[in-house]
Amino acid sequence: MSEIRVRFAPSPTGQVHIGNIRAAIFNWLYARHVGGKFLLRVEDIDLERSTPEAIKALLDVMQWLRLDYDEPEVYQTHNVARHLACAEALLASGHAYKAEKATKDGKTGEVVIFRMPKEGILSYDDLVKGHMEKKAADTQDFVIVRSDGSPVFHLANVVDDLDQGITHVIRGDDHVENTFKHLALFRALGAEPPRYGHLPMIVNAQGKPYSKRDGAAFVGEFRDQGYLPDALFNYLLLLGWNPGDDREVLTRDEMVDLFTLEACHSSPAKFDIKKLTWMNGEYIRRAPAAEFEAELRRRVAAAGLTIPEGFDVPFLVQQLQVRTKFWGDIPGNCAYFFTDDYEFDQKAVEKRLSGPEVPALLEDLANRFEALEPWTAAAGEEMVKQLSQGNGMGPWVHPIRVAVSGRMEGPGLFEMLQLLGREKTVARLRRAARR
Ligand code: GLU
Repeated sequence: MSEIRVRFAPSPTGQVHIGNIRAAIFNWLYARHVGGKFLLRVEDIDLERSTPEAIKALLDVMQWLRLDYDEPEVYQTHNVARHLACAEALLASGHAYKAEKATKDGKTGEVVIFRMPKEGILSYDDLVKGHMEKKAADTQDFVIVRSDGSPVFHLANVVDDLDQGITHVIRGDDHVENTFKHLALFRALGAEPPRYGHLPMIVNAQGKPYSKRDGAAFVGEFRDQGYLPDALFNYLLLLGWNPGDDREVLTRDEMVDLFTLEACHSSPAKFDIKKLTWMNGEYIRRAPAAEFEAELRRRVAAAGLTIPEGFDVPFLVQQLQVRTKFWGDIPGNCAYFFTDDYEFDQKAVEKRLSGPEVPALLEDLANRFEALEPWTAAAGEEMVKQLSQGNGMGPWVHPIRVAVSGRMEGPGLFEMLQLLGREKTVARLRRAARR
């Protein structure tokens, strides 16, 4: 079999939608899996809507997601003469005809119209959706060159796929109807069409097409919110494909190894931001501890905080890494280790520190912690266990946590105290008791 060549062919008219980049991901993986070529074609012939900023945003996103392509990107606007030459050829062979059509400004102008087959059944075998067909009588002729002489999407898309030697077109479900047109155009140009496969629609919780009204929809927004490129890549891959078992977090090599078009599904794929966030946390959790530590040091410093001499950073990493969903959350989640001026969550204060018994309880704990030996998480836990006499440690641990950290969640309490040190723990318990 000759070389497999696929492409991502976005129209750069704004930011890059996750549905579009998912098509890029599937094409990239397919090419890498079969050892073929992955190409980028910028479909910029919609001159009113294509902008240099949008093209730049597209190239940035490709790089951010490590979607490398194997030949220089092709700009569709550079191929217009060739599109028009093909329109001429279609006119000459009788597959197209000219007609007068009303233009936007109320005048009429001459357009070139492609003649769709009129009889029988049009059909093709979709690589994802299976056999597709349509009565020729239900299709209509369509414009391929506008009255201003510019080629229409269908013509440009087909001619460029032909010239780039594309063997498989993998794109969104919204192009299924177009495919009947595109197949007819290929045949009229005397060329063997590529195989087509259409990826399922990405939908919201209500099953409607996922749009920006449902939340972040553009790759750049996810990047700005702190999602990791590999986590987004991995999550988008699961919108329409799975490895055939229950694995969800996969390395890039595993994805390349396992990806097949046969395993793509055709049913709509639900976009679930909670799952993407979980996935992000999984990527952070799996990052090397040294990488987490470097991020932590950088972000803590950037937040204007100083890690004191002798602070057990590796132990903090151990505690924090498994609980971090976004890099950006790190300073907020550990600031109280490095400053006494940390924020108190008012709900936590109300719930855990406002009882009449709390001041005496905290004073008592402060005295006991002052004398605790050794200063370890295990010794602290043992001490509170004794106090609770097997009745559950809740009445002690909750007020301690809020007093020393200002919040209700975080690392294991006794690990937190070990990290914080005796002096700070005792001072904070007394401060909370006397507030
Ligand atoms: N520019 C089209 C789009 O972004 C191309 C579709 C395709 O053939 O892949 O929807």
